[in-house]
Amino acid sequence: MAKKYNSRLIRDDYSYYVEQVAELFGIDEATVRRWMKDGGLERIPNTRPHLIHSSKLRPFIEKLGTARKKPCASHEMFCMRCQSPRTPAHATGAVTILANRSVRLKAACSVCGGAMCRAIRQSEWTKNHPLAVCLSDASEEHKGVEPLHRECSFQMEENHD
Ligand SMILES: [Zn+2]
Repeated sequence: MAKKYNSRLIRDDYSYYVEQVAELFGIDEATVRRWMKDGGLERIPNTRPHLIHSSKLRPFIEKLGTARKKPCASHEMFCMRCQSPRTPAHATGAVTILANRSVRLKAACSVCGGAMCRAIRQSEWTKNHPLAVCLSDASEEHKGVEPLHRECSFQMEENHD
C-alpha cells in the first residue's frame, strides 16, 4: 500500500539533492526521479546534479499524502502527473488481459494528457463498465470489450519535459 511521507522532515529554505530526498524518506532515488519526470515535482531550473528546493518539495509531499486518500471513482483512473483521479481523455484507451484474471487499462488523462493506468477484475470488464462507457469513442480495436482483445496499443501523446 501507499507509503506515508512525513513532510515535517523537510527543512525550511533548503536545496536538496535527489539522493538526500531519497534518504530523507527512505526510498529509492529512482522514485524521486520519477516524481520529477512524471509526478510534477519541480526541480530548481538549470541545476546539475538536480536540486529540489524545500518550497517545492513540501507541497508536493503534502499533496502525495492527500491524493492517495482520494480513491478513484469507477469511471476514473489515477493520474500520476496530476496526482489525482481523472477521467480518461476521449478516444484513448488500451486494454490488456493479464494472466491473473484482471484487466489492465491504460488511457491518457483528460486534464494533462499524461499516462494513466488501472487494473480491474476481468469479470467486471463489460461494455457497461463506467470506464468502458468513457472509452466508448476509442476506436474498435482499443475498446477491449466484445470481443475482448488480448492486447492492443494506442498512440498517446508523449509530453515529458
Ligand atoms: Zn493528469
